[in-house]
Amino acid sequence: MSLTELTIADAASGLRARQFSAVELVRAHVDAIDALNPRLNAYITPTREAALKAAQQADEVLARGEARSLTGIPLGIKDLFCTNGVRTTAASNILRNFVPPYESTVTANLLRDGAVFVGKTNLDEFAMGSANITSAFGPVENPWKRNGDDAALVPGGSSGGSAAAVAAGLAMGATGTDTGGSIRQPAAYCGIVGLKPTYGRCSRFGTIAYASSLDQAGPMARSVRDCAIMLQSMAGFDERDSTSVNCDVPDYSAAIGRSLKGLKVGIPAEYRAEGLSAEIGAAWQQGIAWLKAAGCEIVDVSLPHTKYGLATYYIVAPAECSSNLARYDGLRFGERVPGDTLDAMYEATRRAGFGPEVRRRIMMGTYVLSAGYYDAYYLKAQKVRTLIRRDFTEAFQKVDVLLTPTAPTPAFVQGEQSDDPVQMYLNDIFTVPASMAGMPAMSVPVGLGATGLPLGLQLIGRPFDEETLLATGSALEQAAGFTHRPAIRAEAAK
Ligand code: GLN
Repeated sequence: MSLTELTIADAASGLRARQFSAVELVRAHVDAIDALNPRLNAYITPTREAALKAAQQADEVLARGEARSLTGIPLGIKDLFCTNGVRTTAASNILRNFVPPYESTVTANLLRDGAVFVGKTNLDEFAMGSANITSAFGPVENPWKRNGDDAALVPGGSSGGSAAAVAAGLAMGATGTDTGGSIRQPAAYCGIVGLKPTYGRCSRFGTIAYASSLDQAGPMARSVRDCAIMLQSMAGFDERDSTSVNCDVPDYSAAIGRSLKGLKVGIPAEYRAEGLSAEIGAAWQQGIAWLKAAGCEIVDVSLPHTKYGLATYYIVAPAECSSNLARYDGLRFGERVPGDTLDAMYEATRRAGFGPEVRRRIMMGTYVLSAGYYDAYYLKAQKVRTLIRRDFTEAFQKVDVLLTPTAPTPAFVQGEQSDDPVQMYLNDIFTVPASMAGMPAMSVPVGLGATGLPLGLQLIGRPFDEETLLATGSALEQAAGFTHRPAIRAEAAK
């Protein structure tokens, strides 16, 4: 099998068995980036030379028999994680030339375990978007195509570059961040697995902030097991993030293939929402049947406040972003456009530095936090958020895990929905509630729809019970036998 089609688990054993070297493995990926990135635009900053050098060191570590879980494994890093000495842009003009002098905790953990970073992946500007079309470095193209149709599709967002890179074989896995769906929805659109851990499971230290009460880092890969391997490295307590939770990191890989006999799977009535495409509805039914066949008990549950999820998210997230992005003032970080007065400099800098979607969100956020509106919008949204969380807590008294669709439709054509922000926000209708509640959730590809595009199902679990997600996800993965590959991929480009 081609080196760019292997899973992380298989590549790790291949390296140990000397079937190929880390240099060969990494070279196959950086060559694939050279060949395909001009079209896909999945990477903002490929790091070819540094990756080849790190691969050489990985081979020495392997030769000494000191390999760790990710030694020599080529990964893409969403360009929202600060990487020491490597440009980190958040896909924004305001950070176009920002080179962090420190490493984020998540990437430091991956480096500790031997991973080789092949580049910084594209995203929606400051992770705000669902289609990877708001990046200051241009849109990302989904490597998948509709049957008999060459139209460029969106990879989803905001971790669209990570999803496209992993799907196309330009990385074996990648980091993502998920505030309202940014790991799960692009994973669904690109036919890969994406896991958003419980809020507090992975440190946010060194990850550029969008909405601090929602942001969470997680793995994206081509198998459930690979996500378990990556999460094992990424997760853990970090005293530099006050919201990081100090509890043990279990052996995630041990959950793969665990028996599901007697597991109670909840099907929330409210996710049969308007706008759910017939093919995704059918995939959901199929998923239910598979889990039943694996010994699960299927239970109907209700999450009555789901319908307020999007509306409250689009108050809370912009509010927090307007506060977080206040730091980009032209003085301390990033670009500066001079002005006659301090205020003129702020205005010119922020006008030139932020794209239209980021400006829209800062304005919405500033509005809902302003005197007179704070109680009506922000405080109200926080109260509704509590009700959303309570829905989940009550459901998890009856069931162990929830099964829902990840997104209402498969990937759509680049340019569609771009002039209609509300339509774009509806992409997150199924992912946002778990984010608001801080619950872990994962998307698994389960099949292809009528037009040949991948469809994903979402699993939502109890706080810090990523293991049940991985166990259930691996059962779905096995039943689905999803081995389809996108039209544009490293192996096909040779
Ligand atoms: N699409 C959602 C938004 O634009 C979620 C993005 C994310 O999870 N970072 O806010």
